[in-house]
Amino acid sequence: MLLAVTGENFEYDTYLLIREFYPDRNIVRLYENTGAFYLSLEKPETGFHCEYLEGVTRITFADGLKPEKKYEYPVPVSKSDRKEYKKAHMGNLYRTLRNVTGQELPWGDLTGVRPTKPARIMFEKNTPEEEIRRFYREGRFVSEEKSALAIEIAKRETEILKPIDTKNGYSLYIGIPFCPTRCSYCSFLSNPIAMWQNRVEEYLSCIKKELDFVKSAFEGKIPDTVYIGGGTPTALSAEELKILTDTVLSFLSSQNSSPDSKLLEFTVEAGRPDSITKEKLRVLKEAGVNRISVNPQTMNEETLVRIGRKHTVLQTVSAYELARAEGFDNINMDIILGLPGEGMKEIRKTMDEIIKLKPDSLTVHSLAIKRSARMAGLMLEGEDFSSLGLDRNPVKMMEAAYSGAKELSLKPYYLYRQKNIAGNLENVGFAREGKYGIYNILMMEEVQSIAAVGAGTVSKKVLPGDIQRCDTAKDIGLYMDGIDEMIERKQKLFSE
Ligand code: SF4
Repeated sequence: MLLAVTGENFEYDTYLLIREFYPDRNIVRLYENTGAFYLSLEKPETGFHCEYLEGVTRITFADGLKPEKKYEYPVPVSKSDRKEYKKAHMGNLYRTLRNVTGQELPWGDLTGVRPTKPARIMFEKNTPEEEIRRFYREGRFVSEEKSALAIEIAKRETEILKPIDTKNGYSLYIGIPFCPTRCSYCSFLSNPIAMWQNRVEEYLSCIKKELDFVKSAFEGKIPDTVYIGGGTPTALSAEELKILTDTVLSFLSSQNSSPDSKLLEFTVEAGRPDSITKEKLRVLKEAGVNRISVNPQTMNEETLVRIGRKHTVLQTVSAYELARAEGFDNINMDIILGLPGEGMKEIRKTMDEIIKLKPDSLTVHSLAIKRSARMAGLMLEGEDFSSLGLDRNPVKMMEAAYSGAKELSLKPYYLYRQKNIAGNLENVGFAREGKYGIYNILMMEEVQSIAAVGAGTVSKKVLPGDIQRCDTAKDIGLYMDGIDEMIERKQKLFSE
């Protein structure tokens, strides 16, 4: 399939929207010449030619030997209003794709990561709910159900954020890029800890050095939340974890804060159940960590083997029970829908097991295979993960997860989407009242600055109407060897 974009160059947005309708087709840009881009899907005899012109969108769809179809829609927006102008053209492309494929997308032409953000911003401006609904339904072609979900989440987020002085505070993210082993679907920065064992202390001293910089950059400001993620922070030994939490506590006290007083939330992703021990949980508890994750991903033994998680269902249950016994009263669990070899039966089993455990929050991910995942490589080599004759309807799987969350009295409180996400759906965080992951909302809604330290992390400076970012090296060795440069990058970001 060929795609040509002429007139206005909205190539990337065009690509994103077409990919939502054709998730299994490989879209490659072949060549470009002045103002026209050609993307190849896989059958060169079919294609789209999109003309984004002032006042009109014209799209021609050619499909093999059949006669070409032409679509033309008005653009009643001035070119000077760039945002609305692009939105109008993309809406017209959506209409065309809907006609050509006969499909509706649950999130309409919203291709971004944060589909709830417009609703939250509108609530902030006291926009009536009916108008927000119209924006989603009529303006962006979002389904009734997803519009209601976006509004429900945005309302909840607005309430949760109300008492927080987001503008004057900030949050701290610490990345620990080590895991016991690497799971096959993983696209995060994670390295088997055994490979780095003799440099872990050095890594922790780099974190300290970065925190010393954050101290001075945010002098006089009090952090709202601290989130230690990864990777799997509990891949560190109990002693190493103690060094890390002591560093965080001393950082907090320098900011006149502590987990007992001003800090709203201190989360550690314990993540892999095979990394959790009583000693480590005690270190976290003593440091005042008040929210952890114990992530099953699935409660099916065979899947765990297939995805290289290298732990058992029993280990998940034991780690969770151990955390409860050690006094953790805010435990999150992550699951993934659409894992290879899993259908409705497996999802129901996972949900049944999770319901028995009663976590305080549940984060439901729809599988999105990124290029950096080992599983993507296996797929390219011809390993067929999906031909196991299963009932793999992503919508039904998501419904089963929603109904399990409801049974646990958990409510949806944040949501985001990713590229290549199964069924064009979403990732959703559910939680019991009062157990919401505040950092998740602050980060996903981009309402306050995030000082992120550690390899492969991204710091954000949130200004009115503008968000600036800076990252650190993803390679752990380069990060440690270039720690002074990593700090200089942040200095530039936060001092300007
Ligand atoms: S535990 Fe998480 S971060 Fe670590 S390898 Fe598995 S998916 Fe990646």
